[in-house]
Amino acid sequence: MIASDQISLDRSITDLRHEECKFWHYDETLPKASVIVVFHNEGWSTLLRTLHSIIRRTPTHSLAEIVLIDDASTKSHLGLQLENYITRWAGIVRLFRNARREGLIQSRSIGARHATWGEVLVYLDAHCEVGINWYTPLVTPIAKNRKTCTAPLIDYIDGNDFTMESQQGGDEDGFARGAWDWSLLWKRIPLNEREKSTRAHCTMPYRSPAMAGGLFAIDREFFFELGLYDPGLQIWGGENFELSFKIWQCGGTLLFVPCSRVGHIYRLDGWVGNPPPLHVGSQPTLVNYVRVVEVWWDEYKDYFYASRPETRSLDPGDLAPLHRFRREYRCKSFRWFMENVAYDVPLHYPLPPKNVDWGEVRGKGTSSCLDSMGRKDGGEVELGICHGMGGNQLFRFNEAQQLMQYDQCLTHSTDGRSVIVMHCNSSQYGHWQRNGNLFVQPSLGNCLDRTEDSGKLLLKACQAEAPSQQWEMNHVSGL
Ligand code: UDP
Ligand code: MN
Repeated sequence: MIASDQISLDRSITDLRHEECKFWHYDETLPKASVIVVFHNEGWSTLLRTLHSIIRRTPTHSLAEIVLIDDASTKSHLGLQLENYITRWAGIVRLFRNARREGLIQSRSIGARHATWGEVLVYLDAHCEVGINWYTPLVTPIAKNRKTCTAPLIDYIDGNDFTMESQQGGDEDGFARGAWDWSLLWKRIPLNEREKSTRAHCTMPYRSPAMAGGLFAIDREFFFELGLYDPGLQIWGGENFELSFKIWQCGGTLLFVPCSRVGHIYRLDGWVGNPPPLHVGSQPTLVNYVRVVEVWWDEYKDYFYASRPETRSLDPGDLAPLHRFRREYRCKSFRWFMENVAYDVPLHYPLPPKNVDWGEVRGKGTSSCLDSMGRKDGGEVELGICHGMGGNQLFRFNEAQQLMQYDQCLTHSTDGRSVIVMHCNSSQYGHWQRNGNLFVQPSLGNCLDRTEDSGKLLLKACQAEAPSQQWEMNHVSGL
C-alpha cells in the first residue's frame, strides 16, 4: 500500500499488447457494460486506481455504470470516505453494501442483480488496471454471439513496486489456455496448434477450457439464464470452474481475447487471503470443489476424489436444483467437453490412477499409523500415534499399485533399510500389492513391517501370519 499510495491514480501504463492489436478495426456500436467490482477490505489507492483506470480507458458511450459491491468491509476508508469520493462521477459509480460477508462468489451474483443499466456485465477484481483499448475487443465477440463469454489477458502487476509485465508461460506469443489439474488447482497451458490453426491472425480470440475467475465479460441475460453462480458456492474458490464448465457444457463459448489486457495485482508471498467468516464451515473451497465435480464432471469426478480422497466425506449440500437445471437446459456431458474443448488438459495433467482404498494406514489392532511427519522427496516415513486427522497420516492406494500421499509415493531407500516417500508420476513406484492385511512388494517378496517399540517401519520377508505385518486402512477424513 505504501508503494501504491505514491503512484498516481491516473498513471499511464505500458502498452503490453501484441503489435498486431493496434491494427484491428472494431464496430463502434457495442452493447453498454455494467462493470462490477466486488471488494472486501481492499486498500484505498488500489481500489481507486481500478475505478480511475476503468473510467479513463473505457469509451464513455459504452460504460453504463460501475457497480461496487462492498462485501462487509470493516476498514474505515471504505465507509463515508468512499461514498464521498465517488460522487465526483455523477452517479455512474453506484455502491451497494452487503449486510454480512457473502464472499466474492455470491457478491458477484449480487452485483449482477444490481447492475441493471448495462447489457453486458464485466467483472474485475478490486485491484486491477485496465489496459489501452481493453473494452472494445473484449465485448465484440459477445455482440456477435450472446452466448460467448470473454476474458482479457491478465497482466502481472508486481505488488511491491507496481511494475506491470505479461504473465510468464504460454506459447511463443505468451498465449495460454486456462486449465486445471485433477485436484482442481488452476493451471495455464500453452495455446496449442489445433486451436491456433482455426484462426487467421494470432491476435484473434481463442477458445479456453476455463477462466481464471476474477476478470471476464458476459451477456447479462445469458448469465441469468445460466442461473448466475451456483448459490451453494461459498466465499472463494471453484466458481471459475463452475462457470466455465456451465458455459461450455450448456451451449456457450469461452474465449480469451489477446488484444484486451487488464493488469491484476497478484497475492504477495505469505498473503493467504481474508479468513472465511464464522457462519461458513472451515473448508468452503473444498466443499465448492465437491459441488462443482458432482454437478458437472460425471464419471470424471472419480479423478478428483482420487486426488483429494479426504473430500469424499464432505457434505456438498443440496444439488438437486443444479442437476435439474443441467437436465432441463440439456447441457452436454463432461466427456463431450473433454473430447471437444479440453482435449489438451490431460496431455499436461494426466488423469490420475483411481484409488482402490484410502485413509490412515494403521497397524492392525494397534494405535500406530504410517506418518510421513510432513517429509517428502526421500524423507523417511515413520509410525506415529494415530490421530484421525488425516494430513501426514492420510494415504491412498491406487490402481497403479502406488501407496501415495499428495504427490509422493511410498517406496524403500536404496539400501532397502527404511521406508521413504519420493515424488512420483503415475508410472513410478507402483510396486505394492495388497494381500489380505499385508502390503507386499511382490518383486522382492517383502512386506511392510514395523517394530512397535521404536516406531520404525521396515521391509521384511513376508510372513502371512506375523502380527507386525498386518495393516488396515481406515477412511479417516481429518475434516
Ligand atoms: N472479495 C470479496 N469477498 C471475500 C473475498 C474477496 O468481495 O470474501 C473480493 C476481493 O476484494 C477481490 C475479489 O473478491 O476484489 C477477488 O478476491 P482476491 O483478489 O482475494 O482473489 P485472487 O485474485 O487472489 O484469487
Ligand atoms: Mn485478485
